[in-house]
Amino acid sequence: MSLVDALVLERQDKLSLREIELPMNVGPLDVKIKVHTVGICGSDVHYYTHGKIGPFVVEEPMVLGHEAAGTVVEIGTDVTNLAIGDRVCMEPGIPDANSKAARLGMYNVDPAVRFWATPPIHGCLTPHVVHPANYTFKLPDNVSFAEGAMVEPFAVGMQAATKARITPGDLAVVIGAGPIGIMVALAALGGGCSSVIVADLVDEKLAIAAQYPGVTTVNITKQSLADVVNTASGNWGADVVFECTGSPKAFETLMTLPRPGGCVVMVGLPVDPVPFDVSLASVRELRFETVFRYAHQYERAIALFASGKVDLKPLISETFAFKDSIAAFDRAVEMRPTDGKLQIVME
Ligand SMILES: [Zn+2]
Repeated sequence: MSLVDALVLERQDKLSLREIELPMNVGPLDVKIKVHTVGICGSDVHYYTHGKIGPFVVEEPMVLGHEAAGTVVEIGTDVTNLAIGDRVCMEPGIPDANSKAARLGMYNVDPAVRFWATPPIHGCLTPHVVHPANYTFKLPDNVSFAEGAMVEPFAVGMQAATKARITPGDLAVVIGAGPIGIMVALAALGGGCSSVIVADLVDEKLAIAAQYPGVTTVNITKQSLADVVNTASGNWGADVVFECTGSPKAFETLMTLPRPGGCVVMVGLPVDPVPFDVSLASVRELRFETVFRYAHQYERAIALFASGKVDLKPLISETFAFKDSIAAFDRAVEMRPTDGKLQIVME
């Protein structure tokens, strides 16, 4: 164990920037990374304001942060895929490689997965982290650290687009124009959708989404989403609908949006169970998919950034220094509608 600086969530509503003991020994298959940029995620903020997410409860001090990029400064004796000096981003969830889920390729749903900043596992808002080389991915020269730290949330969008099984030319709807909704829309476009209709209640959020070619926006306080979808599809419906709000309200009309045989991907997580219209879904033979984080998405996400097909830089609203981490989190708590992603730079 080593005494290192970190942003520590002591308990609900209490953050401190202080020293904490973290394991820093580099195993044969590990790399040590000097962390450069860490994005603030809705889940980090939720642990700060609520002290828990579902069954995960903060019971002792925990380092926050799981969206990170940095530079390799040390490699384990058996590591062959990375070298000192490589710029990398890290996948924060480490499964048991021998678990049944991992052997099935669904390592994200391994019950034993250890995920940064999910109690009791410490996160990465600290100057150095030790991480398995297999879950550390090299960034091409044209992908910045800021973009590298966006790979983690974008991987959720990639997982959603993959689960949707998009066919080239598909029309998609994304409900919710927060950072995840926009990233889902961009992954859907990257996956072959011809256009994506993004719906929200807040004009400022929609304005961020509207910057992207292929995205049409709908403010559902002013316009009927169903009308827009019907007009765009000749009254047939959307091929894919991504629900990215978790709002029970969204479920009231959700089943009216997909075409017969279309797909609904649930990305947002309602806090409580929500009713939905099974009959309406059945008469259209809708297909439902769920998403829990992601598996095998990092390399493809990085490739889309490097190719220029996906540019997430417009989503990064402000960058804070590590010493101002608490202010950064308090800003995130404000949930300003004009804020996309807030990031912290460690050096
Ligand atoms: Zn995240």
